[in-house]
Amino acid sequence: MRSRLANCDERKEQHQPHCGPDYTKGFLPHRLIDIQSSTLEVVCRADILESLPTGDSVPYYAALSYCWGSLLDAANQLTLLTSCLKRERFIFSSHDVPAVVRDAVAVAQSLSLRYLWVDALCIVQDDLSDWETESSQMNQIYGCAYITICSLTASCNLSFLDPEILTTSIDFRSTINHEVRGQYAITYSYCVSLRSGAGILVDRLMENRWSRRGWTFQEALLSERFLCFEQYDVSFSCSDRVAYLSGHVGERPIETLRMMQVDIREPQESIWAVWYQLVLARYCDRIFTNCEDVLPAISGVARVFHKTFGANYVAGLWDTDLAVGLMWEVEANRHRGDLSGLLRSQQPTTLTDLLKALGSPPYVAPSWSWAGRQVWIDSPIVSYSQVWRDVHDECHMSASVTVAGYNPFGRLKDAWIDFSGTVVHIGPYTTIRPSGEFPGHYGMDLDKGGSVICRFDWYANTTVLRGRFKMALLGSFIEHPEADNDPDARVSDPRDQTRTAELDARERTAFGIILHKHPRSNDFLRVGVFFSMISRGGGVRYFSCYEAERLRII
Ligand SMILES: [Zn+2]
Repeated sequence: MRSRLANCDERKEQHQPHCGPDYTKGFLPHRLIDIQSSTLEVVCRADILESLPTGDSVPYYAALSYCWGSLLDAANQLTLLTSCLKRERFIFSSHDVPAVVRDAVAVAQSLSLRYLWVDALCIVQDDLSDWETESSQMNQIYGCAYITICSLTASCNLSFLDPEILTTSIDFRSTINHEVRGQYAITYSYCVSLRSGAGILVDRLMENRWSRRGWTFQEALLSERFLCFEQYDVSFSCSDRVAYLSGHVGERPIETLRMMQVDIREPQESIWAVWYQLVLARYCDRIFTNCEDVLPAISGVARVFHKTFGANYVAGLWDTDLAVGLMWEVEANRHRGDLSGLLRSQQPTTLTDLLKALGSPPYVAPSWSWAGRQVWIDSPIVSYSQVWRDVHDECHMSASVTVAGYNPFGRLKDAWIDFSGTVVHIGPYTTIRPSGEFPGHYGMDLDKGGSVICRFDWYANTTVLRGRFKMALLGSFIEHPEADNDPDARVSDPRDQTRTAELDARERTAFGIILHKHPRSNDFLRVGVFFSMISRGGGVRYFSCYEAERLRII
């Protein structure tokens, strides 16, 4: 592994020019653990920089990505507290830290690194402002680390260098000579059967506690180089490749943001499609000990998107793509057998339950953001840029957020959208019918003509929709006719422009969100989404006879 890392440093063999972190940034975290001697010490950046010989660049450090484990394991591990900072020095030995940190120290030392970053010891755990500041820098902390050491063990107390190997013993006794007796030991050797394909390797990496945890998502995505300790193997990932100690070489199963950006081509919407793929398809079902961490734990990735593409981040969505971003959908009672114990939460079964859930503390995100829902999200917008062509806004929206602390991409105190556009009133008793084509969707006719397909944020399961709702028209698009066959047709065919103009208005699919009045204010809550297609007796032109309104959606 050491030679692989050296080859990567020198960009030798199969390593790429963009392999490894970008040291030109000269970034160093606020605090690091000095692991040079057997006495470990938390040191601050200023002291490290001061001790550097003149002209030396910032030192390399390793970052650790791991699971804290149960609440008891987390509570019992050594952490940095405000009281520690009051002492002149915060010194401890490797016996004081949990097994995973002890192992990480040993690995970093063997790579001749002097510094290690561990969240529990480099962020003041009982100081919210320090936690906010540090957690907002995760993109740099992991992105600029020489290497990220990753432990797939489920708890900080489980060693990854000396994993518990599953063995079983079977007594035997010779039938010929009864004096000959002893034990067979069978050792579980999982990796042997996994040499056959990279697909299985990906599955192995994905089906463990570490890859289900919320915080590790961006740690993996932001790390340029990864040394991953699994129970029966060790892998080194850089650029787009992964190499296992046991010999297998394949494609890197965990992408980096840099890898994803390489694939991003114009038009702009594909950038936001990457965001939706990340947060809706791969992040929403992660496990959080604290549901308020949903936005902070992805804030490093959000910061990179903001810096790269310039749009404003609003509660997990982007203001330049708000109409599409609001169209995420809640999947009805999804279960996954192998991970059923880890299911975050189920879709509310009634509208009353949904409204109650939306108003219950703690405040995580507004009703229009996926971040506050704690349910499985299944959304066509994950791949919308391949299917929706020529997306137009059909309303005006202005989104505002107030963050709760120092992280501009972190926890929220309040957020709202001022909407101005076409609104359709429905209720109090509206007939709906299950849509045969899309499970969990319902068809509904509008009183002035046209029809819509709805998906509610609760498990409606009814034929009469009780209550008063408003449908807010957000935007429209033209469905790409050859989406499945030729995803590049949109950008490569010059006739598209003419065709788009001809189809305009007549063949545009309308989309928007379904709102319900907040029980205690004049504001509105998002409770579902709708589409109105030409093929099902609808389309954007049917909305022209409805009035425009101004609403605040919270
Ligand atoms: Zn490399």
